[in-house]
Amino acid sequence: MFRQLLLFSALLALTAFAPVPDRAAERDLMILTIENMAATAGAERHRTIDSSVLSAMRKVPRHLLVPEEVRARAYQNTPLPIGYDATISQPYIVALMTDLLEVRPEHRVLEVGTGSGYQAAVLGHLAHHVYTIEIVEPLAARAKAQLAALGYANVHVRAGDGYAGWPAEAPFDRIIVTAGADHVPQPLLDQLAPGGRMVIPLAQTDNEMQLTLITKSKNGGISREKVLPVRFVPLVRSGS
Ligand code: SAH
Repeated sequence: MFRQLLLFSALLALTAFAPVPDRAAERDLMILTIENMAATAGAERHRTIDSSVLSAMRKVPRHLLVPEEVRARAYQNTPLPIGYDATISQPYIVALMTDLLEVRPEHRVLEVGTGSGYQAAVLGHLAHHVYTIEIVEPLAARAKAQLAALGYANVHVRAGDGYAGWPAEAPFDRIIVTAGADHVPQPLLDQLAPGGRMVIPLAQTDNEMQLTLITKSKNGGISREKVLPVRFVPLVRSGS
């Protein structure tokens, strides 16, 4: 009887202290899917994703940044609703956009469209500092709290209209816009450092949207490369 009780308490203690599953196996599968998609079905001129990007994505607990309702599906290679008409992009698109940015450890990165905070967390592993702006206040507040709870001290979140960029922290080595625009906001071009790169989904005249890579040369010249047709929620303006 005593031994049974001992066994029972030992089992109870084990369950109480068992680590919460961190879903690492699902993340590994997600990474394989991203690599596979990049190699076969994604952007033609970008068949591989840099290993630094993949290892950052292997670390971020995506399930803890999306709302409870969609947590079970967090690691599927699909976009997911995160409330307030916003969506978190599918993992392949996050990987591609991050890869295109070519972030280095000394970089200061601006993100427009914080959403869940997932993309910002991925960038947080790669950059020195990440500044991210979200126009929907409750989304900004939720992302800010979650990122702080997860220990992302180098990711700075603010509510506001990202069209205007973040002048107090400019210039930025890299800028990522995660909502679809019909033109490149001039303030963002101005806040991009010489030698900088920007990734932005841009609506075309035929209503298609193209993920676009913009580079600014050392002497300020701008060039554009269309990378892949994509779908994104629209970049809205405050007061519109
Ligand atoms: N990067 C996010 C997904 C963003 S979805 C993630 O990892 O979860 C696009 C987001 O852009 C939405 O949350 C939307 O509210 C926001 N947004 C749209 N227009 C904006 C603007 N002008 N400034 C800042 N955020 C904007």
